Amino acid sequence: TSAAQAALIGLESEHAAHNYHPLPVVVATGDGAWVTDIDGRRYLDCLAAYSAVNFGHSNPVLLEAARAQLGRITLTSRAFYNDQLGPFVTALAALAGKDMVLPMNTGAEAVESGVKVARAWGYRVKGVAPDRANIIVAAGNFHGRTTTIISFSDDESARKDFGPFTPGFRTVPYGDAAALEAAIDENTVAVLLEPIQGEAGIVVPPASYLPAVRDITTRHNVLFIADEIQSGLGRTGSTFACDLVGVVPDLYLLGKALGGGIVPVSAVVGNVDVLGVLHPGEHGSTFGGNPLAAAVGLAVVRMLDTGEFQKLARERGARLHAGLSELVGHGVIAVRGAGLWAGIDIDPALAPGRVVCEALLARGVLAKDTHGSTIRLAPPLVVSDEDIDWAVAQLAAVLAEL
Ligand code: PLP
Repeated sequence: TSAAQAALIGLESEHAAHNYHPLPVVVATGDGAWVTDIDGRRYLDCLAAYSAVNFGHSNPVLLEAARAQLGRITLTSRAFYNDQLGPFVTALAALAGKDMVLPMNTGAEAVESGVKVARAWGYRVKGVAPDRANIIVAAGNFHGRTTTIISFSDDESARKDFGPFTPGFRTVPYGDAAALEAAIDENTVAVLLEPIQGEAGIVVPPASYLPAVRDITTRHNVLFIADEIQSGLGRTGSTFACDLVGVVPDLYLLGKALGGGIVPVSAVVGNVDVLGVLHPGEHGSTFGGNPLAAAVGLAVVRMLDTGEFQKLARERGARLHAGLSELVGHGVIAVRGAGLWAGIDIDPALAPGRVVCEALLARGVLAKDTHGSTIRLAPPLVVSDEDIDWAVAQLAAVLAEL
């Protein structure tokens, strides 16, 4: 770490709350799958801002959409109409095969909004008795950091000292459809799941799981809410991870890549029989649906409409997984994932994930550990074949040196 980087790291340590433990690199610019630090050293970005940068840093199409809108108007609030929101929600609803979009900003807001919509649907449509609604969630989930969302987390560090918590959630093991069905009662309004659990370590459920959940929720008149905030919008090689197993949920929760890595944009997407329960004054957001966000979001949807990025994720993802599978037995215990998304369990006897990520950083690869000894790789979908081979070679070299 240079003196200049150490100085900037010092400013953050002193004046930014310590709710993250960043790797010691100070990024200044980004282009495609690569970023450059303030000293001019380049790194292959294998985190892509937790999949918010699926289309690459400084994507020219997205930057142009943002620049054009910056010169017009950026915020109206939804007290008035703006000329960007209508086209954006129309295109996003069509991409998802649904009628309606509730635009918000961050992923956590989309989850909170999904919870509120499901509860209101439960009382107003399903006929659940007042204040009795419950929502079923999965063990190991990660849906965000707000008070209600951490109320149904089972990660101690996400919850400790942040109570009291919001009631109305039931946790069942992830991947176990029978346990999920057994937890449903007459007050159950929704099942909320990540189709692939991201922060848990890219945990892919058995192929029969999501179809079974779809079947169970339909039979019991319960909404199926898919949190595709990390898994959606191309990452897994299809528009939604649910597509991989032919499942259509009632509500999609989207975020991260929806804002093109430029602005925070999130959304709840569903049909009018569910999202239509919201009436004026019941929910909102000053920034949700703002014209800058809508302009960038529309450009994102248009890019996904071509199928080009989903194809990149499939093809380059196959190459990534082929490379990583050769490391199993050589310091790697297991590799999971789909498309350009991999969770790599490092042999904990060798080193913690953090140490592996620091060694990767020294070799010019940015990656992030999760849950001790798992490393996740999720480069921008525009990463090249050569970059993928190079990143896998760096990981092999790091493991050989430990
Ligand atoms: N849901 C999932 C599946 C996520 O992975 C995340 C973030 O990692 C969130 C929700 C929360 O999104 P945000 O950090 O934008 O609030």
